[in-house]
Amino acid sequence: MFSKILIANRGEIAVRIIKTCRRLGIKTVVVYSEADADSMAVEMADEAVFIGGAPAAESYLVADKIVDAVRQTGAEAVHPGFGFLSENAGFARRLAKEGIVFIGPNPKAIEAMGDKIESKKFAAKAGVSTVPGHVGEIDDTAHAIRIAEEIGYPVMIKASAGGGGKGIRVAWNRKDVEEGFPAVRAEAKASFGDDRIFIEKFIESPRHVEIQVLGDKHGNVVHLFERECSIQRRNQKVIEEAPSPLLDEKTRKAMGEQAVALSKAVGYDSAGTVEFVAGQDRSFFFLEMNTRLQVEHPVTEMITGVDLVEQMIRSAAGEKLPFAQKDLKINGWAMESRIYAEDPYRGFLPSIGRLVRYSPPQEGETPYGFVRNDAGVREGDEISMFYDPMISKLSTWGKTREAAIDVMGRALEDFHIEGLGQNIPFLAGVMDQARFRLGKLSTNYIKDEFPDGFQGLPPTDEQRDMMAAVAVAMHRRLQERASPGRVRDDWMVVAGLKTLAVNVQAIDGGLTLDIEGRKLRLEDIAWRPGQPLFRGNLDGRDFTVSVKPAAEGFVIRHRASTLHVLVLTPRSAELHEKLPPKKAADTSKMVLSPMPGLVVSIDVAAGQEVKTGEVVAVLEAMKMQNILRAERDGTIKAVNVKGGDSVAADEVLVEFA
Ligand code: ADP
Ligand code: ADP
Ligand code: MG
Repeated sequence: MFSKILIANRGEIAVRIIKTCRRLGIKTVVVYSEADADSMAVEMADEAVFIGGAPAAESYLVADKIVDAVRQTGAEAVHPGFGFLSENAGFARRLAKEGIVFIGPNPKAIEAMGDKIESKKFAAKAGVSTVPGHVGEIDDTAHAIRIAEEIGYPVMIKASAGGGGKGIRVAWNRKDVEEGFPAVRAEAKASFGDDRIFIEKFIESPRHVEIQVLGDKHGNVVHLFERECSIQRRNQKVIEEAPSPLLDEKTRKAMGEQAVALSKAVGYDSAGTVEFVAGQDRSFFFLEMNTRLQVEHPVTEMITGVDLVEQMIRSAAGEKLPFAQKDLKINGWAMESRIYAEDPYRGFLPSIGRLVRYSPPQEGETPYGFVRNDAGVREGDEISMFYDPMISKLSTWGKTREAAIDVMGRALEDFHIEGLGQNIPFLAGVMDQARFRLGKLSTNYIKDEFPDGFQGLPPTDEQRDMMAAVAVAMHRRLQERASPGRVRDDWMVVAGLKTLAVNVQAIDGGLTLDIEGRKLRLEDIAWRPGQPLFRGNLDGRDFTVSVKPAAEGFVIRHRASTLHVLVLTPRSAELHEKLPPKKAADTSKMVLSPMPGLVVSIDVAAGQEVKTGEVVAVLEAMKMQNILRAERDGTIKAVNVKGGDSVAADEVLVEFA
């Protein structure tokens, strides 16, 4: 076994690997860029080596610097995590040549599977069912059209070197191919330095199901069942679970056997994932093999009890797999939510910045179930524009799928983040949707369920009552402070668009409420003014809501529902009703910056006439270029910024006359 391992990665996965190394008594070294000097991984590792500038191309992607760091610290092996150099066969070869162990599969397997065209050919030969299509390179647009028409629309145009949801486009007709082929080719060239493209049938309304495999250097390969990752946005996974609600025993066995057959055929000797698209009828087709640890590996660990990082380390050290296929069983159900720094209310735009407050739920066995949070950040840390915008991965376990979903819902309630946009309300909303709870998933799920984007979900009657009760409890507590002994018991609560008559009595340390004739009991209130989370028990059920003081009342969010709640005396409620509704500031004549970022270009000038849809400005954040278009026809009155400027969220970029 190794005594010291270098981790050529950052963030949550570096922390994840350190945890297993510590348990195994292995010393750790992390490398870090300028942006990560104060990171949690650097703090936790036994040693840390600075390797260069914040852009990955100056640090985490430079093999020479990693090798130097290994030399400098005397590490015996390198764990690459995922992303960066993890699927780079050249890097694995280079390490081998230098006598350093690569904790991952052998370079031949990486090479064979790292390329989508080659791996598809290989899979077909190993008897794995592949997506119908053209298994070979496409020369030009004319060739692409010919192939697309042979396969039949819709088709998917894919970069052979693609990954992370990049270099993929669906074409529904000839025009889409004419536009899409050069676009994918250009993106592939820019992102992967490789512009080989292929085309396959687009499976409509598919599900993403993948098999975790594990091999050793002695020819043994097992699978650790499946994960379903159908909840995706722009081909990127958002919610994953294990096992899959789609599979029956027969399909699970067939898929597992194909994944093992493919792995054996390439001499696979580490942890890896064979990805499939599956039809709702449980037909399934090979997509690609990821020759690395997968982001969503925790759900597999939770249902099998196997530590995948430990097994990768052991097999890299030459140990035999400690179990055979028959020793592996599925225990319960696990769910994972990717908490991203993005604003779900604004089209999921990246939202970078500082974690002014970061308070994850309690981990391990909690009052509501088992929780695991894989994070590489602490309160005060910054989610930087240079890397993946993931804040953490929240995973939960239950005996059944419903139980795992319920634990996730509660854990999301208890997760508090301030300082940047985050998708927790969105994730909680999905957990509450009937379709999700029924397991009727597809990669179109988010598009189907939120066709106009996410604006939160309307509160149920129970949620509205809960928020009214919470508001009254907070209002009373604030009042007690101001004038002790003089709190009243009858209130009018304006909760969103409804006004509710509420009577409240303090009895036995809790509150007994009557809301429009409905009797409720609120207990276990520990809230004190200033706290952002209000925890309590309503009619026997524990809950957490987030609360913020706001104009005369509170803004309260429970899961995906947010309400502005006012607690008024009956007299002031009467007056309130007579007030004209407040008007929001008129921003319809302005183009606002939707997020903090860098202005790449301003494409209009004062006095210019523009039509709806015309490009007004291009803004860059998190390495993504966001095109801002005119939402109306009109004449430009003023341009307030220029290319190269840094702008804050909501800054007025351009004004219409
Ligand atoms: P998974 O399939 O494990 O969910 P993703 O496809 O989301 O993983 O990618 C895992 C990580 O690796 C992400 O941080 C992603 O941005 C990155 N990644 C994956 N493939 C590539 C690639 N070819 N080039 C650059 N980054 C990649
Ligand atoms: P990446 O390397 O970016 O992960 P994949 O080939 O795994 O690329 O595809 C990413 C996602 O795109 C899949 O999870 C699936 O949702 C969708 N997808 C890929 N190929 C197809 C296809 N032929 N038909 C339908 N959906 C597909
Ligand atoms: Mg994939």
